[in-house]
Amino acid sequence: MTDKSYKKRMQRKKEYIDSRIDQANIDKGIIVLLTGNGKGKSSSAMGMICRSLGYDMKVALVRFLKGDQQTGEDLFLENHPNIVSAHMKSGFTWDTQDQELDKIKARETWTEAKQFLQNPEIAVVVLDEITYMINYNYLDESEILDSLANRPKDQHVVITGRAASQGLIDASDTVSEVEDVKHAFRANIRAQKGIDL
Ligand code: ATP
Ligand code: MG
Repeated sequence: MTDKSYKKRMQRKKEYIDSRIDQANIDKGIIVLLTGNGKGKSSSAMGMICRSLGYDMKVALVRFLKGDQQTGEDLFLENHPNIVSAHMKSGFTWDTQDQELDKIKARETWTEAKQFLQNPEIAVVVLDEITYMINYNYLDESEILDSLANRPKDQHVVITGRAASQGLIDASDTVSEVEDVKHAFRANIRAQKGIDL
């Protein structure tokens, strides 16, 4: 490609991008859904929490299905004045082998999440690993969709978890599927602090 035609192409590209930027003039609370089998869903949500806190926004972090495993972000954020959180305690079903107890814990955690989704003071609500609660029938999808639809209009929601249901995909504004190309765990490397937990 000649220098001149390259410049022309770049100029056209810039005009197109600028026109799209001009068109995107709406501000509203959006739902971001991070799904798929690859690593990077919850840590991406933590990245958005970090961005939000940088602007002094209030954040609610709700964790489903996390067991009792502590993460670096829990330690880092635990006493942050702009974060409220709710963590489902009893964790993976294959640990607890007690579906009824898991269901109760899921509902308790959802009750707290619902309150965050009604609170206009909270700018961002993270629902980490909630997809499993729907897929295991621990929580009712329609009730979750209803709360999402009726949340304060400027409130953002970040949802993570594998195998997101079609209802969640339809309700979301931004949906990313993280593909599992490779994971260190399969080379017998255990979860590393700062990267995996
Ligand atoms: P992260 O919290 O690191 O962003 P994630 O939220 O995308 O990961 P989860 O399914 O919630 O993924 O799993 C959390 C933990 O499992 C992390 O320690 C992560 O590194 C690990 N993990 C994620 N995907 C895989 C995979 N495909 N194979 C093995 N381990 C994985
Ligand atoms: Mg996760």
